[in-house]
Amino acid sequence: MSNLAAPPAECQRCTQRGREYFVYHLEGRYDFDVDRARVFTSDGREAVELEEESTRLSLEGCTMDEAHIDHVDPTIPGLIAHVFHTTPEGEELAGHVLIDGNHRAARCLRDGLPFRAYLLTEDESRAILLRAPRPRRRESVYSQAEGQDGKPGED
Ligand SMILES: [Zn+2]
Repeated sequence: MSNLAAPPAECQRCTQRGREYFVYHLEGRYDFDVDRARVFTSDGREAVELEEESTRLSLEGCTMDEAHIDHVDPTIPGLIAHVFHTTPEGEELAGHVLIDGNHRAARCLRDGLPFRAYLLTEDESRAILLRAPRPRRRESVYSQAEGQDGKPGED
């Protein structure tokens, strides 16, 4: 027993309780309400299987707790949200981020198992966003196309 990974009872990640959040950086910080995302995705929708390369990319920059990888159930799908950002030049950046299931994804990669995830819609992704970078003004871009009040549209 002594050379095995710490049992779940001694693993901080296994024993942590309370609401779960995920923080992501795309030209600024995003905080997601993972618990609310789980409510959305428990509506019977099907999880999609990620390509191995996508799974690998989704883990880039993630902080991994190696010991915890053995404690997770790789058959439980992860959660993927959309993220949006408008650059000062008015360029819209969009991406996907794995907000739940990083260790399950790592386990699947390591063990050659398929990794599946539930996709949140764009609306759901916005609804679970607790914090996002403040959009910066696009002085010249929206004055004509999006109305006389000079505010950007709800895009
Ligand atoms: Zn653990």
